[in-house]
Amino acid sequence: MAKVYFKAVDSYSKTEEISSAARELLTTIVKEDKVILEKFIPLKVHFGEKGNNTFIQSKNYAGVIDYLKERHIESAFIETNVLYRGERTTREKHINLAKEHGFTELPIIIADGEHGEDYLEVEINKKNFNKCKVGKEIADKKQLIIMSHFKGHALAGFGGAIKQLGMGCAARGGKLAQHANSIPKISSLKCKSCKACAKRCPESAITVDKKAKIDKDKCVGCASCMAICPYGAISNSWVASISKSFNERLSEYAYAAAKDKANIYITFAFNITKNCDCEGHSMKPIVNDVGVFASTDPVAIDKACLDVVDRNNGKTVFRRGRYTLDYAEKIGLGSQSYELVEVK
Ligand code: SF4
Ligand code: SF4
Repeated sequence: MAKVYFKAVDSYSKTEEISSAARELLTTIVKEDKVILEKFIPLKVHFGEKGNNTFIQSKNYAGVIDYLKERHIESAFIETNVLYRGERTTREKHINLAKEHGFTELPIIIADGEHGEDYLEVEINKKNFNKCKVGKEIADKKQLIIMSHFKGHALAGFGGAIKQLGMGCAARGGKLAQHANSIPKISSLKCKSCKACAKRCPESAITVDKKAKIDKDKCVGCASCMAICPYGAISNSWVASISKSFNERLSEYAYAAAKDKANIYITFAFNITKNCDCEGHSMKPIVNDVGVFASTDPVAIDKACLDVVDRNNGKTVFRRGRYTLDYAEKIGLGSQSYELVEVK
């Protein structure tokens, strides 16, 4: 049975307490679960979309960063580009925003390159995917510390470690594949025939006559064109993504991102908002702050977060998305059975 270590901290305003709780849990998990640490361990984080004010700020990671430094373990903040058009769509803008949001203590790696073109295909042979496009700089690492923010999510229902692995570690094309429509759509109304997409498409799948058109047989769904189009003419359908099969695809990508890695998962249950940190506006938490969790099992840690948040509130807080846990367990990502070890 997986162990999930937990330390209660009742307010996000208690930064130093949160930072030392994360450090204490990391120390405990390394000792108790006999985790062997690599010489380079990136921290998978979320920098928060521009305008968002509830993402987990980097000062809360200070204890973990110090722990690694004291052991001469090199690290970096690591992230992938997002699918939608925004401040985190391309590497340069993404890094600028990360620094603006205070992520300055470590170097920053955007794992899938400038537009999402850098990925490795990880073979998993599951129901929905045989191979998954994982950001190259993540796929080629042996170990990461997956720092997740526990909160709601418009499509997944809730977001924690599995979401941070599945969507968070996927290259842009992998994100697109999870959202069902792996071939983007071009709006002929918005297209200005500038040819920027055709010039950058790695598969020469786009031709521009009067308007741009994608050759579905050539397109590999890398999603780069969505980031490149200066007129926002290329998109996918988000609405079609809300389904059980989305939860399955998310879980399969999480499986791919974690495959053959000795990851450690640290989840921060603070600022528990209805939607995720990709929302570029301020949001209010919907329940009280809870504390910090750590585990080597991404399924167990997500289940523990849901259970403790429900227990504290005397009700089911996030109803949607729980099928993700069932499916993730079924495909071997982890276990929903866990022992909660409260660190006092
Ligand atoms: S059209 Fe080209 S750039 Fe766009 S998703 Fe397909 S392969 Fe990638
Ligand atoms: S980059 Fe956008 S506007 Fe330019 S041709 Fe492609 S779809 Fe049309």
